[in-house]
Amino acid sequence: MNIHEYQAKEVLKGYGAPVAQGVAITSVDEAEAAARQLPGPLYVVKSQIHAGGRGKGKFKELGPDAKGGVRLAKSIDEVVANAKEMLGNTLVTKQTGEAGKQVNRLYIEDGADIDRELYLSLLVDRSVGKVAFVASTEGGMDIETVAEETPDKIVTVPIDPIAGVTAADAEKLCSALHLGGAAKVDGMQLFPILYKAFTEKDMSLLEINPLIVMTDGHLRVLDAKVSFDGNALFRHDDIKALRDESEEDAKEIEASKYDLAYVALDGDIGCMVNGAGLAMATMDIIKLYGKEPANFLDVGGGANREKVTAAFKIITADPNVKGILVNIFGGIMRCDVIAEGVVAAVKDVGLKVPLVVRLEGTNVDKGKAILDASGLNITPADDLDDAAKKIVAAVG
Ligand code: GDP
Ligand code: MG
Repeated sequence: MNIHEYQAKEVLKGYGAPVAQGVAITSVDEAEAAARQLPGPLYVVKSQIHAGGRGKGKFKELGPDAKGGVRLAKSIDEVVANAKEMLGNTLVTKQTGEAGKQVNRLYIEDGADIDRELYLSLLVDRSVGKVAFVASTEGGMDIETVAEETPDKIVTVPIDPIAGVTAADAEKLCSALHLGGAAKVDGMQLFPILYKAFTEKDMSLLEINPLIVMTDGHLRVLDAKVSFDGNALFRHDDIKALRDESEEDAKEIEASKYDLAYVALDGDIGCMVNGAGLAMATMDIIKLYGKEPANFLDVGGGANREKVTAAFKIITADPNVKGILVNIFGGIMRCDVIAEGVVAAVKDVGLKVPLVVRLEGTNVDKGKAILDASGLNITPADDLDDAAKKIVAAVG
């Protein structure tokens, strides 16, 4: 689960990280009131959407010469003028895709005088089985570009889960970020704070780009992107409350209600599969035969009729779907139960596109008989290869 920058900063502030004073607002009037609460004379007006690259982003409704989604303002009037221009408009960044995201909320922040922009993040480094810091002096820009062009400027410091952030780890990070004086004192404090926030709140990513050294020599968290491990949300009601469903795919929200692992994709063949591995294989074979999957959907090992129906509704609600491939291996789950679910779902939601069903495993013959007897326009398939060929041919 992702949250907005202003929420991430609130969480980090709770742990004692240095963040600027700021107020999140949703109207021009509120923007003015917010700016009046801040010390000035420099303000920052920041679009709150679940995507990065806002500064370099462009508003669809404004011309190509208009400023981006993060703007500096030198007076309260300028804050108001920028808020007027930004609120309600669609920001397109490297991460939003062409459609962009509507900006319904701005964060009005006290502006900082920047000396240097650094990069600092925490993530789960699976190659060492630890949480690791990633640090670079090249902050404020795309870290992917830094990784590609100057990989030696990125330093990774894995953290021992028992020892936590040691003095030696903190020293390594200070040296990677070229921190000295007050910035070093701040850094030595900040690293353990970030690690504590990351582990206590079950984050999967905490990215500060940039972390800045201000002209007064101190550090400040200028931008913050935080993702949480969805599997741990049950123990963080405070974090769950930060969810902004308007930023998420409607189909993915619906799927999460039924505990279906669903990810919307760009292709035109809807897939319903049980097991993540089989779902990946199904997507691969669709691609092999020249088409693209419209989604990843794992109905799980214990899918029942209700789940299958919900999954079907989500797939058919996607206007891009030109055909559906159901690929189920009946292990724990019996094929006859799945077949009943498929038939019930088709009767319930109707079927306007070709449907190919491949069943294998426990009670497969019973399952096929149920599909046959249903009288519905379902194309049976014998194996995965056969199924993929049939759906690709049907979609044309
Ligand atoms: P992003 O573009 O979505 O990553 O948004 P950021 O929060 O990282 O802001 C983009 C850029 O705006 C930063 O890299 C800074 O160069 C600039 N910026 C943001 N806040 C301030 C500020 O308080 N003072 C100054 N001088 N620049 C800022
Ligand atoms: Mg940034």
